[in-house]
Amino acid sequence: MVNMRKSGYKYIFGPVPSRRLGISLGVDIMPHKTCSLNCVYCECGRTTNLTIKRGEYTPVELIRKELKDFLSGNPKLDFITFSGSGEPTLHTGINEIVDFIKADYPQYKLALLTNSTLFSQSNVIEQVLDMDVIIASLDAATERNFIRINRPHPGLDFKQIIDGLICLRENFSGQLWMEIFLVPGINDNEIELKKIKNLLTNVKPDKIQINTLDRPGTESWVKPVGKKRLIDINRFLSGFEVIKDFTPEKNSFVLNENDFSRFLSTLKRRPCTDEDVSQILGIHVNDVKRFLEPLIESGKIEKKEMPRGVFYIAK
Ligand code: SF4
Repeated sequence: MVNMRKSGYKYIFGPVPSRRLGISLGVDIMPHKTCSLNCVYCECGRTTNLTIKRGEYTPVELIRKELKDFLSGNPKLDFITFSGSGEPTLHTGINEIVDFIKADYPQYKLALLTNSTLFSQSNVIEQVLDMDVIIASLDAATERNFIRINRPHPGLDFKQIIDGLICLRENFSGQLWMEIFLVPGINDNEIELKKIKNLLTNVKPDKIQINTLDRPGTESWVKPVGKKRLIDINRFLSGFEVIKDFTPEKNSFVLNENDFSRFLSTLKRRPCTDEDVSQILGIHVNDVKRFLEPLIESGKIEKKEMPRGVFYIAK
């Protein structure tokens, strides 16, 4: 499968191999780092627009146009996923995009990655009821740890978020998976995790997953939880699922020979940053490092630290 996207796509990325959803086409409907939280572990960097104000942050019409263009090729996908560099439920047009895909491309399943903060608003719940899977986060059992880990917009209330999740579950008939992101020293201890599990008993999700840092987060003091610790956590919290690395099908994350040699010849002529590679290959910037690692290991390309950041160069 070739993952090149046609140049000019602004709101869709991938398809990329997702650890939970298989081959997933990303739809990023929010401008970079517009979010109701500013999580210490966020892989997209610090939130620059901390807000709970909903709006049509990006034009629905243009997103529909890009989807139509890409999906008309009938690509093999496991999911189309609303995710990216901000909180998708802040977008008031999310239901219009869902309706469009469900009506014109019913063969594709839809997933939403959300930070759960806006489900206290009933109209937000109504707008996401047609998703097939909602993966919602909850990293803390107390307001204090919610503030330490997620650094929320001051207008958010922890108890209302829990009530919103309960309300979502009562109304949503698809799969609801809750994700707890482990931040060592704050929420990875037995007491806190048991409290979170108790809170989630009322929400009644279909799955509870624990996640740990995979790529560099916003704050350098946040470290991944080691394998042994994850096994221990799993033991004392039976029923939790540890998110494992997704092994894509053979060739699901590669370029065809022509595209690959074009990519290498570009790197020979012009050293590229993560962002450049993301643009060239049509993959999300968060996935660039994972894609390039095997090429660095095999000696095809090298990494160079420059004053402006890391550049990739073909040997
Ligand atoms: S909710 Fe998601 S996008 Fe927003 S800051 Fe947290 S991790 Fe980043």
